[in-house]
Formats: sequence, C-alpha cells, structure tokens
Amino acid sequence: MEAKVERLQRDIEALAQFTATPGAGVTRFSFTPEDRAAREYIKAEMARAGLTVREDAAGTVIGRREGEVPGPVVMVGSHFDSVKHGGPFDGTAGVVAALEIARVLQEHNVKTRYPIEFIAMIEEEGGRFGGGLFGSRAMAGKVSREELLRNKDAQGISTAEAMAAFGFPPENIKAAERRPEDLKAFFELHIEQGPVLEAAGIDVGVVETIVGIVEYEVEIGGRPDHAGTTPMTMRADALVAASRVVQAVERLAREAGGGAVGTVGRLEVAPGAANIVPGRVRFTVDFRAKDGRTLADLVAGLKTALHEACQGELTFTLTEKLSVPPVVLPEAIRALLVREAEARGISTKVMLSGAGHDAMVMAGLTDVGLIFVPSRGGRSHCPEEWTDYAALKKGVDVLLGTILQIAEG
Ligand SMILES: [Zn+2]
Repeated sequence: MEAKVERLQRDIEALAQFTATPGAGVTRFSFTPEDRAAREYIKAEMARAGLTVREDAAGTVIGRREGEVPGPVVMVGSHFDSVKHGGPFDGTAGVVAALEIARVLQEHNVKTRYPIEFIAMIEEEGGRFGGGLFGSRAMAGKVSREELLRNKDAQGISTAEAMAAFGFPPENIKAAERRPEDLKAFFELHIEQGPVLEAAGIDVGVVETIVGIVEYEVEIGGRPDHAGTTPMTMRADALVAASRVVQAVERLAREAGGGAVGTVGRLEVAPGAANIVPGRVRFTVDFRAKDGRTLADLVAGLKTALHEACQGELTFTLTEKLSVPPVVLPEAIRALLVREAEARGISTKVMLSGAGHDAMVMAGLTDVGLIFVPSRGGRSHCPEEWTDYAALKKGVDVLLGTILQIAEG
C-alpha cells in the first residue's frame, strides 16, 4: 500500500489557498474565515474517505475509522493553523498525510483491530492568541477556562470570545480531554524546519527526543551617562556587559555539544541614543537541549556569565519565562518506523526535534511517533517553505505502514 503523490499535492495546494494573505504566504489563524474554509475542506475529504467526522470542544477536527474493537484508538495527524506569512507545509503536511492514509485504507478496504482517528489540530502555532499547542493541550486537559479568557489576539478578542463566535462554547473546553487508557498511540508527520535531512540526503527523520526548552528574560542595569564626557574607566555600560553575556550564551551551547543550542533573539537598549552610554539592556535567552542535565548546566553557565559581566555598579535580574523538559519518544515505536522505512527502501536518520510539536504534548498521554520530511534549504515559517511532494510521499508511506502494524497489534 502506498500514498499517491498527486493527491498529496492537490491537498497541499488546495489548503494553501485558505490564507488571509494571498500572494504573501499562508496566514491561517484559528477561528477565522480561513480556518473555516480549511476545516470544511478537511471535513469533506475525511467524509469522502469514509470517516465519521466530528470537531472536539477545542475546535480540532477528528475523523474516525472504526476497528474490530472500540478502543484504544490509534491517532495520526498534525495542525492546520499557520504562523503569519508562513508556508504551505508546516502542520498542513501532517494533516494531508493523515487524509491520504485514510484514503489508502479505504481503497484497500482494510480492516484493523483498533480504531484509527485522523486529526487536524487547531492553534498549534499560537499565532493568534499566543500559547500555542492548543488542540493537543486541550486533549491533555491542560487548557483552563482562565486561559481562554486571558489570552487575547491583536484586536483584544479573547480565545473564549473567538471560540463562542465560531460555534465552540468555551465552557465546554474540558470535553476535549482524552483519557490515556483510551489511546494506543499518536503519530505525527512534520516538516523538519531545519537543514539536516536535505544536507545529508536522507529521506525521513525519526525523532528520538524532543528537546527541552528554557527561556529567560535578562535585564542588566547600568548607568546612562554622556557618551562624550564620561571617561571609559568611569562607565557602567549595560550593553557592554550584555554583549559579554551574549557571547557566553553562544560559547556555552557550542561547548555543551549534543545538539544543544543557545540564542539571544531579542535585545532592547535604553535609553537608546547614539550619544548616551547604555543604562539598561533587556534581552531574551533561549536554551534547548536533549537532556535536563545539559539544560541545567547551560543555565548555571548563564548565571556565572552574568555575575562575571556585572561587576561594580552593574546589576542584573533573571526571569524564567518558559521551562519545558525534554521528551524521549518510545524506543519500540521508533524501531517500528525505522523497520518500515527499511522495508520500503526509504533512508532514515535518528534526530532531535528542536521545535515543540503537538506530539510533545501527546507524549504525556500516550506512546508517540514523530517523523520529519526534508525542508528545502531548511526554511520554514516563511512563504518559501517547501518540501518536494515525492519526499512527502515517502514520509506518508512510512507512517501508513507503521500505523497499520500498531492498529493490528
Ligand atoms: Zn508545525
């Protein structure tokens, strides 16, 4: 059994039309007209593939194919929202993979022991309301009523208001929750969003670990002075201190190895004038690593660097904004994915996922398999984002074969 490239292409091209920014990439925020159009397309394709279609309380689309027994259920899917001016593949590739698997099973009149649910998750990117991973967090029971009221879009509309207007009563959010005992496994295909697979000429990445993430906001306080009259020996320059910390973040991540990364992605200098010594600098630090020990070492290194950089009058504060532990995906499922690929002559590489995905949240509920297909030039979250349809097909085939085994066993 195999996926059909033409159908994958047709789905990707069709869904790419549902954008708020035609001609400037895919912008498909949740609970918008573009969301409506995309979900109607997905629901229609699911129904055509013989699935029983419903939407859960969060707005995730679920198409179900019954098995010989009522459960536990095997799930496959990804998200169908996008970032602003994103590309046609992020998330959508995994939804399209699920649609195609449903069609192939229908064509071959396959009967499985366990039911299979084909999933199109909502608001994974958090593009509209922030937060993100909304559909999977709702399934895990991790979305509170309070969050629905608190998180607002750029127009000040809360998630709760947007949901209500779209036809999903926010007070029902807990009904989206799934019980671990009702789930057998969750599979996700996603574009790599990095350059590794393409550079290595490998077809499919099998994710071993989804990295842990810590994000801090750092503020360094110095003293704003006249840039012409204050001697170099009498300054408390917050930006010079910050620059040493930025260098340390880069060095710490390099030295940690094992795929660890460290990034200062935002930096604000105050007062911010050419003729004033910087008095205050605020910046972010994002560390990612595959094990908690490395993350802890990186954070310790950051603190040391801050102490060393902030001598004399210089002070600093360090505020944790995010802390997500790494998730190691089950070895047995990875082995099944690799064996399925080998049997089909598809090359694989064991990988880290440096980005969070719905699979990361679902791993708290059930066994998870996550695979990557190559991203051209490693580009994503931009209109240029691209994966060849033939390359996408290989990933879908690996998923198809693996899901069949899990749904039987
Ligand atoms: Zn994504």
